[in-house]
Amino acid sequence: MPRFRQAAEILRLMNRKECIRNIGVVAHIDHGKTTMTDSLLAEAGLLSPQVAGLARALDYLEEEQKRGITIKTANVSLLHETEGQPYIINLVDTPGHVDFTGKVTRALRTIDGGIVVVDAVEEIMAQTETVTSQALRERVKPLLFINKVDRLIKELKLNESAIQSKFTHIINDFNNLIDTYAESEFRKKWKIDALKETVVFGSALHKWGFTLSTVKQKGIKFANIVDAYAKNKHETLSQTLPLHDAILDMATKNSPSPVTAQKYRVPKIWRGRLDSEVGQAMLNCDENGPTVMCITSTQIDPKAGLIATGRLFSGSVQEEKQVYLVGTGKKHSVKHVSICMSAYRERVNRITAGNIAALEGLDDARGGETLVDFEHKDAAMPFEQMRYVSEPVATISIEPRNPEKLTCLVEAMNRLSIEDQNLTVTTDERTGEYLLSGMGELHLETALAFLRNYSDNTDIVTSNPTADYQEAIMGNGLTVMAISPNKQNSLRLQVEPARKKITRPALHDMAGNVWATDERGNALISYVQEGERISKVKDAIIQGFLWACKTGPLCEQPLRNLKVKIVDAQIHEDPAKREPIQIMRATSRAIFGSILTAKPTLLEPIYRIEISTPTQWFGTCTRIITSRRGKIQATKNKGRLTIITGYIPVAETFGLTSEIRSATSGHAFWQSTFAQWRKASGHVAAEIVKQIRTRKGLPPEVPKPDLFIDKTCSASANEDDT
Ligand code: GDP
Repeated sequence: MPRFRQAAEILRLMNRKECIRNIGVVAHIDHGKTTMTDSLLAEAGLLSPQVAGLARALDYLEEEQKRGITIKTANVSLLHETEGQPYIINLVDTPGHVDFTGKVTRALRTIDGGIVVVDAVEEIMAQTETVTSQALRERVKPLLFINKVDRLIKELKLNESAIQSKFTHIINDFNNLIDTYAESEFRKKWKIDALKETVVFGSALHKWGFTLSTVKQKGIKFANIVDAYAKNKHETLSQTLPLHDAILDMATKNSPSPVTAQKYRVPKIWRGRLDSEVGQAMLNCDENGPTVMCITSTQIDPKAGLIATGRLFSGSVQEEKQVYLVGTGKKHSVKHVSICMSAYRERVNRITAGNIAALEGLDDARGGETLVDFEHKDAAMPFEQMRYVSEPVATISIEPRNPEKLTCLVEAMNRLSIEDQNLTVTTDERTGEYLLSGMGELHLETALAFLRNYSDNTDIVTSNPTADYQEAIMGNGLTVMAISPNKQNSLRLQVEPARKKITRPALHDMAGNVWATDERGNALISYVQEGERISKVKDAIIQGFLWACKTGPLCEQPLRNLKVKIVDAQIHEDPAKREPIQIMRATSRAIFGSILTAKPTLLEPIYRIEISTPTQWFGTCTRIITSRRGKIQATKNKGRLTIITGYIPVAETFGLTSEIRSATSGHAFWQSTFAQWRKASGHVAAEIVKQIRTRKGLPPEVPKPDLFIDKTCSASANEDDT
């Protein structure tokens, strides 16, 4: 079907909200998400059917093709007819690798139904559980595709009853996930059931699939499928039982339209008042109401500039519409509106509520932003924050081999940090190096490949990856006093571990006033009588606190979970003698001094790791993990595979892929997700602190508290109040 006809028909249907389905495909890596998606695209006429399954159209970036993993989110609108009724399927692609789960979560906000692909041989894996629980948290209804059934027939040579019990086992396990993670009102309703067409069985590679009702209707038996393989005629299956029909029919019949879904999703994912004009428009998916769009991804098109893609929950967007971005507080005019056709965009006049749109002209937009009509800016409320790890845990330094390419590389880094919010680019103030931080070694390697691509194949020199450590305290510090460098001001304060996260709204519960908090759980609380003089230096004290929190006294790593209590401040009456820098220095010195009396420690990032290995290499894999300070938590047998789960410090995972690959002749795979910040054990911590200090050009020994403390006060700070 030619693409232009598709686009015209899609546009015509876009105003019929009952005929829209916003769906996404989620899976554990390698379970067949991309292969399945290709089959759907072939049906839409975007790919020739012969190429589907090989071309991997959604992996439209070269890097993704090379590595065989889907990293960026590409969307596509498809047309599909079920029982004579045309539907638009807005298919949102989600990355499959755990290093990038942040993106999966954001994509989930745009969809109402999620097709979870599960490899029939490997069954439900850790990442299946993660993505399914994330979908349920966003009130996205899960549907199941049991893939690679050909392997059960051809490779494992299971008989029909063994295959049947494998299916039952997978379905039961999947329903257990729904039991565990769904809210009570959906737990029963959303259980999958082969008899209710919420499960497709098939082979994405050979492009066939069925629900129980299709085989019944067509009078096909499972024995016919087995027979087709025995006679090497499995290609006919893609004609008798086309996969795209099975999947898209399941979606049109069992995934909700935006009108249905928004009624229960908006109360969960949006923070505003539901009885307001905006709230009502969103609940009803009203195209005539105020415009509210949730932007989920941004990409830079070298020709068109920033492209912001997201879901319209109410109202409409058209060219030149004046819109307001709630997060940045900026007004913009929409330059162009498009629907997504995978790597292409089809420019259109207007897109209405319930659909997915790509907008040009919003240079300040970022994933997670809320867009509203400019005229409704005062009534605008943002969407709920999405919970995912965005704190980087691994860093490399980078520079171009040819210094003349620096500007080009910096531009590429800026572009990449806009597109991938889990990536941060900083400069080391001491060495002037550019630092790229991300979620792990693979994430950084992938980012580097993008950087080369975006910067005209610049030759980039990198350091080895290092884990990002943080500093914390294990006990309460002494109340200490530090004076400003000009000796005219002094601050008295005490630090202790923040045992609970302190947020500003907790202000009235506390004896002190919460002056500042940061994203790592640090809080500044004042117990000082607030007079005029204090109020003049309050900002400088806050700046001093934030400054100290970025680089702690052990080895200039960020501080975590620190509660700073200001007990007293003696501030000079002459403004010239209480300049902000004087106050900031006194504040940070006092904080460092008190920290060094509070059992300071180093926290290291820990991954939860899952290794899947043929059982014969089980011992090899466990040995590798334990030799890298990892701890095995559980092992499970799944057919010929053993699945090992455990915990391992991020720092110990660099080079792990190649070690496991060569030790198991390429048969074992591992994946990880960030689990926690954990106190590094004594000798490890001391060694790491030393290494970091040396790398940063600091004296090797941690400074003594006296370096920062001008007086240790006997009076202790007010009692704990949180
Ligand atoms: P993704 O990581 O979930 O996107 O998985 P891919 O679609 O990239 O598939 C991973 C691997 O499994 C590729 O080598 C595919 O060719 C293979 N694969 C996908 N679907 C099937 C299937 O139905 N049967 C078999 N035998 N292999 C499949």
